Amino acid sequence: MSNPPPNTAPPAAVANGAQPATLSGPSTPSPAQAPATKGTPTVSTPQDRIVIFDTTLRDGEQSPGASMNLDQKVQVAKALRGLGVDVIEAGFAAASPGDLASIQAVGREVEGPIVASLSRCNKGDIAASWEALKDAPRRRCHVFLATSPIHRDFKLKMAKEEIIRRAVEGVKMAREKFEDVEFSAEDSARTELEFLCEVVERAIEAGATTVNIPDTVGYALPTTYADTIRYLKKNVRNIEKAVISVHCHNDLGLAVANSLAGVMEGARQVECTINGIGERAGNASLEEIVMAVKTRQDVLKLTNGIKTERLYPASRLVSQVTGLHVQRNKAIVGQNAFAHEAGIHQHGMLTHRETYEIMRPEEVGFAKSQLVLGKHSGRHALKERLVALGYQLNDQQIDKVFADFKVLADKKKDIYDADIEALVVHGQILGKGSVAWQLEALSTTSGTGTLPVASVALVDASGARHQAVASGDGPVDAVFKAVEQVTGYSVQLRDYQIASVSTGEDAQGEVTVEVEHPTGVYRGRALSTDIIEGSARAFLDVVNRIALKVAPADAAKARAELGSP
Ligand SMILES: [Zn+2]
Repeated sequence: MSNPPPNTAPPAAVANGAQPATLSGPSTPSPAQAPATKGTPTVSTPQDRIVIFDTTLRDGEQSPGASMNLDQKVQVAKALRGLGVDVIEAGFAAASPGDLASIQAVGREVEGPIVASLSRCNKGDIAASWEALKDAPRRRCHVFLATSPIHRDFKLKMAKEEIIRRAVEGVKMAREKFEDVEFSAEDSARTELEFLCEVVERAIEAGATTVNIPDTVGYALPTTYADTIRYLKKNVRNIEKAVISVHCHNDLGLAVANSLAGVMEGARQVECTINGIGERAGNASLEEIVMAVKTRQDVLKLTNGIKTERLYPASRLVSQVTGLHVQRNKAIVGQNAFAHEAGIHQHGMLTHRETYEIMRPEEVGFAKSQLVLGKHSGRHALKERLVALGYQLNDQQIDKVFADFKVLADKKKDIYDADIEALVVHGQILGKGSVAWQLEALSTTSGTGTLPVASVALVDASGARHQAVASGDGPVDAVFKAVEQVTGYSVQLRDYQIASVSTGEDAQGEVTVEVEHPTGVYRGRALSTDIIEGSARAFLDVVNRIALKVAPADAAKARAELGSP
């Protein structure tokens, strides 16, 4: 790719507003033109509206250890709908039966956004996507094929002509079932521009309504990526018949910058994830994209359907459900994003807020207070708090959370937002359904100069009781060894963490255990006021995932093996 002069972005952005609409063309009624989500303040013309395509449930779930079960995925999808995203990529239907079922559930239960399923350019994958989405009122098939020389030569072993033939075939097959078809040229950022042009042009000709230009490996720089989008706009015949989409990975920390550079050149769909989760260093972060567009209206002059005050609750929910904590200094949603420490800043803040603040915390939905409920709080107060935290539960589910809430309130004086989130995530609501092993009894002895020993009794699915005693380097190690003895699973511990969920001496501890097993990497979590018991339950959570092959980790692994944009 050529080296353009630096700092070309601002003029390009100005020029962009005057560029022809990318969503026009009555022949291809793009879903992106659908009426803006309810509550969107301004009516915008297609050319200044960005389609927000969220792939937290597909690319995001490919983060190591970020596996979600079906209920959790539906809950995240509901939060995404509340947030106002245009498209939810719910999975890769052909990758695993679990993926297919999740897409189906999201398509059936989450009305409003378009629900997309990823597919390779083959009959089987597209059929699986159709199976997953045929009941969804608004659906998209997202087909992809790698185009870069390195992928052509080493992964696909296909010549350029073969790539074009397959891409065209894939898009056409998808169009037989779906009106809305997106084509991704995987590894676009490392593809020869002329060839990329040809592939994109042929994909549009075959019926693609969105053409995605992924920087699959996070290699692009804002200038090179902008060049690519500009080149396509200039050289692809009929480019105005499709929406140009950007999909950037964060390996060099440039995913958001690259996405915005693409948008400035006329891309009108951004693929991103909540908290920027995703394979390796992750994807472009939705909240950063949205707040950059909002805060720099003066330059970007673009709109989208996102209700920004739902950003923080959505971030918390995804973090809770996946177990992937958000770094404190993360832009927009990190704990420190709006905290001012230095005295001089505080003085400036008090006199005039904007001295040091370009956004207000309320704009992104930062909770003013963390302390919310106590022993005497009622069901209604809890329900209100759950909604504010981004959870959309039915009455029956709220009853269950309320029952757990009352138990906790007896043990703990103040119930914080984090405690409520933990109740939902660890309880029976979004937790695991059936389990292979349950903890019946646990005791440990340890102390200075004694050998730590644990005695564990578990009940299996048939109700039979099994017991084991083991010693270890410490009481937790002894517990893990005893559980291994009973269940017969031998695993390699990769990570073990205890975090306090909220504050106070009576705070609950959340234990996270990550292990390696020949079938994959598994992560388990549990909550308890007793850390040894919490550790046992977290380890059991892992064992149950392995035993029941719930292993959403497997689904993510299967997807990774199939490749993806
Ligand atoms: Zn990706």
